[in-house]
Amino acid sequence: MRRLSRLAAALLGVAAVTLAAACDSGAPPIELSNSGPPVDTTVNFAAGSTMRHLHDAEKITIGTKFDQPLFGLKNPITGRPEGFDAEIGKLIAAKIGIPANRIEWVETVSANREPFLQQGRVDAVIATYTINDQRKEIIDFAGPYYIAGQSLMVRGGNPAKISSPDDLTGKNVCAVEGSASSTNMRNRVPGAHVVLFDSYSKCAEALKNGQVAAMTTDNTILGGLRSLDQDAFDLVPGTFTQEPYGIGIRKGQTDFVRFIDDALRTAFADGSWSAAWDRTAGRILGAAPPFPDLESY
Ligand code: GLU
Repeated sequence: MRRLSRLAAALLGVAAVTLAAACDSGAPPIELSNSGPPVDTTVNFAAGSTMRHLHDAEKITIGTKFDQPLFGLKNPITGRPEGFDAEIGKLIAAKIGIPANRIEWVETVSANREPFLQQGRVDAVIATYTINDQRKEIIDFAGPYYIAGQSLMVRGGNPAKISSPDDLTGKNVCAVEGSASSTNMRNRVPGAHVVLFDSYSKCAEALKNGQVAAMTTDNTILGGLRSLDQDAFDLVPGTFTQEPYGIGIRKGQTDFVRFIDDALRTAFADGSWSAAWDRTAGRILGAAPPFPDLESY
């Protein structure tokens, strides 16, 4: 039975790759395989450490987005998220000695990231998650592993002629509940009507249907959504914030923060961070920027 289900999984994996090749419409498909980076088999963690606990359990639970192309998009065939955030998760798991197929992926939307960490429902959140002081009061962050910037997306052809956030005064602009983007928008343009959804895919639908004049979040997320429907959307050039992406960890797990920072440092140095970028987000967003400076030490 077990052997059969492994075979079925392997066949589905082949089907996924074949499907991706068949669907190729110019833009290369996002990586569809389940394989992960080489797993560290020489680990030796101190008793009582977070890493020892995860290693001994042979499992890590990671919260990520399931509807964000390039960063975390659930593959309907494998059931696993794909994108840069998922790759960062696999790199960290491998350094704890946990293979990619022992990662349990849990969908986190913007608003439930802190609660899921506080409740212990996930061991880490890697989900286009901006490090900021407000969040640092209740959780810890490792990283950053990437710096994004907030931007705007409008309907194709830009019918409302929006070229900066200030043009949104008196207009409906979509953002996601619990996101830094919604707070930034309210602060920057108090006269804009911020319409909240719980996920970015729903925001994009509202924009496409003309229910809002624009949607706002990180350039990374907007670029990914537009890549799925280039006629429907235009990106407004430029960014108006800095969004350093961190790995959210339950408050007080300093050993884990330091361990992840070390894993990131290694991934920056040995090329695995750039390779992960190139095979996911880099396909649409272009070459990887310089490595960000790590915050915690
Ligand atoms: N990076 C921003 C944040 O963490 C916006 C993206 C998101 O909601 O995931 O809130």
